[in-house]
Amino acid sequence: MADLAEVVAAIAARGAEATDRGRVADYIPELAKVSAGHFGIAVVTAAGAEHVAGDADTPFSIQSVSKVFALVEALCRHGEGVWDRVGREPSGSAFNSIIQLELEQGRPRNPFINAGAIAVSDLIAASCEPGAAIGAILARVRALAGDDSIAVDAAVAWSEAVTGYRNAALANYMRSFGTIAGPVDATLSVYFQQCAIAMSCRQLARAGRFLAAGGVQDGVVIVSPERARRINALMLTCGHYDASGDFAFRVGLPAKSGVGGGILAIAPGRASIAVWSPGLSPQGNSLLGTAALEQLAQAMGWSVFNPD
Ligand code: GLU
Repeated sequence: MADLAEVVAAIAARGAEATDRGRVADYIPELAKVSAGHFGIAVVTAAGAEHVAGDADTPFSIQSVSKVFALVEALCRHGEGVWDRVGREPSGSAFNSIIQLELEQGRPRNPFINAGAIAVSDLIAASCEPGAAIGAILARVRALAGDDSIAVDAAVAWSEAVTGYRNAALANYMRSFGTIAGPVDATLSVYFQQCAIAMSCRQLARAGRFLAAGGVQDGVVIVSPERARRINALMLTCGHYDASGDFAFRVGLPAKSGVGGGILAIAPGRASIAVWSPGLSPQGNSLLGTAALEQLAQAMGWSVFNPD
């Protein structure tokens, strides 16, 4: 088998040199001003060994990768009741699509599209004191990463809020069906702030390690093995919006992307992997990040569809 440290270094070298890097998200200025030249990768094995290269310690906006941690928080608070509000099917639509909400009586298809994540934010808020939900998500992320310096980027959160007309439309529409029970503004505030959490690849890979290790991290049960398996299943089928099928085809790992250019991928039983390159594909997923994960899974034989 290939040497992991060498593979990670080779991928980072390729990522630094690549010329076709995709298009940086520009719907808010804070994301548009990030250089497309960045590339970072961090691999944290299930046992805790770390291999990092490139810009692995540079914080970036995790955006929709936060939807994984918010789902964990909601599952820990509400158990399987989460699925009364949100489905478990791939959407085949863009991240911010509203069309399926009308067809399916206001019930989002899964927790990783915007509508589903907003409904998850609402569930978390319902089980917290007013204003405490973002603190709960942040505390969860910090504990998983073992790093209390992780924070919400206030400028990004503010920009998300003042430009988030489509997300407000999704939230109001769901509120009309009762999918969201709390005040729409408070729910959106949680969602915008969780998207604005800034983390490095190293912090992100550390935070995802429990999903590679049956729900356990350093002897602490974060979620049951069954729940870890199910979260991984959702990441595989729904983690890349309308490109989820293509990602499974090319990479074969559960993963969640964000428009900041980060991707958290899980090789069950083996490792948690975070990659970051801000340039995106037309579907809004990191172009070089996806290519890097394809190379890593191939070189290490880590696709979940491998026979061993
Ligand atoms: N903050 C973004 C939005 O809600 C997140 C989208 C993403 O990362 O895919 O529009």
